[in-house]
Order: sequence, then C-alpha cells, then structure tokens
Amino acid sequence: MQRIPKEKAVLAMSPANAPVLRVKSDSAVVFETCDCFSNKIQSEDQLFGSVGWDSINPATGPLYVEGAEPNDILKVEILDIAIADKGVMTTAPNFGVLGDLFQEEVTKIVPIKNDQAIFNDRIRIPIKPMIGVLGVAPAEGEILTGTPGEHGANMDCKRLVKGSTIYLPVKVKGALLSMGDLHAVQADGEIVICAVEIPGEVTVKITVVKNKSLPLPMLVEGDDVMTIASAESLDEAATIATKNMHLFLMNELKMDKHEAGMLLSLIGELKICQVVDPLKTARMEFPRWVLEKYNYSMV
Ligand code: CA
Ligand code: CA
Repeated sequence: MQRIPKEKAVLAMSPANAPVLRVKSDSAVVFETCDCFSNKIQSEDQLFGSVGWDSINPATGPLYVEGAEPNDILKVEILDIAIADKGVMTTAPNFGVLGDLFQEEVTKIVPIKNDQAIFNDRIRIPIKPMIGVLGVAPAEGEILTGTPGEHGANMDCKRLVKGSTIYLPVKVKGALLSMGDLHAVQADGEIVICAVEIPGEVTVKITVVKNKSLPLPMLVEGDDVMTIASAESLDEAATIATKNMHLFLMNELKMDKHEAGMLLSLIGELKICQVVDPLKTARMEFPRWVLEKYNYSMV
C-alpha cells in the first residue's frame, strides 16, 4: 500500500500545493500524521507558546486522485486509525471557551494504555481515535488547515473515526486531499481548543463519485448519516447543517418539505462538533434505518 510520510505536510489547503503522491480512484493510501503541534511538545515543561504558528495543524498531503474533477464527490472511507502511545493537551490564556479564566499555559501529557487515555490517577477514559483535520483544496486561494469549511479540514467531528465514510466536494482537479490532527478522544465542543492530540497513521480508501450532487460535507458512521456545516456562529452552522439534511431528504428520498421538516424535529439530532476553531461546526445526525425504508443507499 502506498504511504505518505508525515514530513510531507501542508499548513493550508490550496490548489497551489504540489501533490506528494498520485493515485487512481479506488486506491487505499496510508497517511502518517504528526500531532497538531508538529510533535514539538514531548514533556509537560514545553508549553503551547513555544510551538509557533508555523507548526500548528500540519495536514499530511496533498494526495492527487486521478480522474477527480470539479463538481465530483470525493468519497473517503476511513479503514483504520492507529495512534501513538502518548498524547498531549494544552491550555492557554484566551484560547477556547474557558480562555478568560486561564492566566498561564499548562501542558498535560496523556499516556495511552490498554485503549484508555490515562487522564490522571483517578480517571481513565476509553479512547475513540478520530481525525480532526481532513479536507480538500478550495477552488482558489488558500485556507489554513485550522479553519473548517465546505471543503472539510478542521471539522473536529468526533464521529470521523475508523469505519466511517466522509464525502467532500471536489473543487480542483485531483481533489488534493490532506489530513492530520488526530485525537485519541474528544468530546463534542472541544472546550479548551484541543483534545488528546496525538501522532498516528490513517488508512483510507478513496473513490471518485461522478454525476452526483449531495449537500456536503456528509459523513456516515455507525447507525447515522450526517450533514456537517461550519460558520462564523454556532447558530448559523446549526442552521446550515439542518437545511442540508432537509435538502438531502427532499432530493434523495423525495420527501415533501413539510414531512421532511417534521421528521427532523422527531429523529434528527442536532449536535455540536466544535465551538473553538475560527469557524464553528455543527452536525445533523439522521438515522440510516429511514434510508433503508426508502430503499436508498449512499453512493
Ligand atoms: Ca482541530
Ligand atoms: Ca486538535
């Protein structure tokens, strides 16, 4: 299987980034990833401020997918996520929801043992490795890897895990897929602007989908299909995620708009992904059993 080493990474998603590997549709590729601090924090005496913005949120890639053209969909199946045996967390003044309460920077090293994050002497948390940043190049300009959007990137969605499938819009030839920012575990919200940040490697299968239109990004994981949206405010992100799922129900399941709206009010779960990045991210979770009732399969 082809691999992209962690040293081949970008700090912005851009059509100007030179591809580091080219593959055909239906290929499997391994992305080795640094943590969001470029692996520069190894002990608790190293603080966030020592890292430097030119090392924050490296995303391994970009990968050029042959045959991917603007308006296609890039389907990325997460076949596996392997993580290191130690992660790191940081807090810093004015960062995250509680930033006004922090007067100094603090670093915590979080060992991973037996699929648990050792938070402190009393607390062990079951890990659920996920991908914080996974995105394609925008049509023009560059977007820092730390900013989420329609092109994916720093969505910090805790359901982007092994076994999930993420659908992104292709904006440029080759799509230019990059990813990084793995978390051993993260809760919805990501309150202090980091989770258990950890290096690792992600194995994905990539497929180009032609002649299909979906309200993207979309994610399928476990029993749910999801629309994900990012915006200046959480309110706005929540509205877009909801309207995108509503559109999906109307366009794909051919539901009446009132019927679809009522159904979302009953079984559409509106959730927060994160509230700490330059844009906030929300998702609408909808149960897949309804798709089965309509004999609908995702592409
Ligand atoms: Ca992140
Ligand atoms: Ca992170």
